[in-house]
Amino acid sequence: MTVPGASRFELPSDALQQCIRCGMCLEACPTYTLTGLETESPRGRIHLMDAMTHGRIGATARVSLHLDRCLGCRACEAVCPSGVPYGELIELTRAQLVRPSRRRDLLLGAIVARPRVLDVAARVGSLYERSGVRALLHATGAIRLLPPGLRRLESLYPPLARPRYRAPTPPSAPVARVALLLGCVMRVAYGDVHTSAAHVLARLGVEVVDVPDQGCCGALHAHAGDREAARGLARKAIAAFERAGVDALVVDAAGCGAYMKGYGRLLADDPAWAERARALAARVRDVTEYIASLEVPAPLGRLEARVTYQDPCHLAHAQGIRRQPRELLRRIDGLELVEMPDADMCCGSAGTYNVVQPEYADRLQRAKVDAILSTGASAVVSANPGCMLQVAAGLRARGSDLPVLHVVEVLDRAMRS
Ligand code: SF4
Ligand code: SF4
Repeated sequence: MTVPGASRFELPSDALQQCIRCGMCLEACPTYTLTGLETESPRGRIHLMDAMTHGRIGATARVSLHLDRCLGCRACEAVCPSGVPYGELIELTRAQLVRPSRRRDLLLGAIVARPRVLDVAARVGSLYERSGVRALLHATGAIRLLPPGLRRLESLYPPLARPRYRAPTPPSAPVARVALLLGCVMRVAYGDVHTSAAHVLARLGVEVVDVPDQGCCGALHAHAGDREAARGLARKAIAAFERAGVDALVVDAAGCGAYMKGYGRLLADDPAWAERARALAARVRDVTEYIASLEVPAPLGRLEARVTYQDPCHLAHAQGIRRQPRELLRRIDGLELVEMPDADMCCGSAGTYNVVQPEYADRLQRAKVDAILSTGASAVVSANPGCMLQVAAGLRARGSDLPVLHVVEVLDRAMRS
């Protein structure tokens, strides 16, 4: 039986049929772990996608809800014995199922993808913090008068007066030339993390070349279901990085790196861009992956600290990078790395998930904060801005001032000493 209206929905049948319904992905799935519901599991979601593709059900609001609650963390993909490309399936599903809401369109299209608008938004935010208004709203409790959506966004934002990116002095005899993805949100919210990444690379003899007009990678747009906008941004980024003629494109935001490594697939049906997309994707490296591949001195500086490491989903599950960040941290003299429970369980950040699915995001955030605090670490280290924002907000909500650092910030501090 075909449900009217369902025929417009299309997913690659071969990918759907790869699912053998074994259920080995269930325990890895954060939303299944929270609810125990088949419809909130990878297997259940693939079943829904298959039923829509073959017209057995329509794309109703109820079906959309289960698919929208997926974090896109790809923990299921990492454990699937049958190689189901779940990340691709959910991205294609969202592109057809939900038109991005007007609010999300405005947020992503008008702010994130336009550097000048994002700069103005950051300056307004910085003024809000520097003027003392932010501190006053929190101290008096007036912050609770803001609408819930705005309050949530405000709570996620890091101290807004963080320094911008400063390029290092290039090494005199570079061993390699790379570009660094500055991105969109990361460029204004965590410019100092980029500075740390570039300075660590320069100390290891790697030249970081300037790539103007590189823009946003498109990952946030794709995650929100706006695949066409993501493809447009990918083409711009490919053209900008091609002109730079570098050995590698180094990325210090795991979500962006995972997305750019998939550019070949994203533009496979575009004859003018398919080969260029594949070539750029092959040169993308997460910053921890790239540094670990270099001949680096041992130890990598010195830092007395006891830290715990949070695996970003898009580093551990989507890129299979778990060993390199830990190895780099362990090479720092004086640093003790203590593992937290379920380090690779999603923290609830997942692009805009913590804004559009607050209930599940909060539950995952609380579990993550519990895991971090149970280690007794003096700092938590991660490798993705979304996770860092989410973890920092969760810690603040618990009254904890535990620092949240990127791996490259820890390396930078250790190497400076
Ligand atoms: S592990 Fe893979 S094959 Fe098994 S149910 Fe999950 S998605 Fe399907
Ligand atoms: S991507 Fe994450 S949340 Fe979505 S089904 Fe897979 S494991 Fe579950």
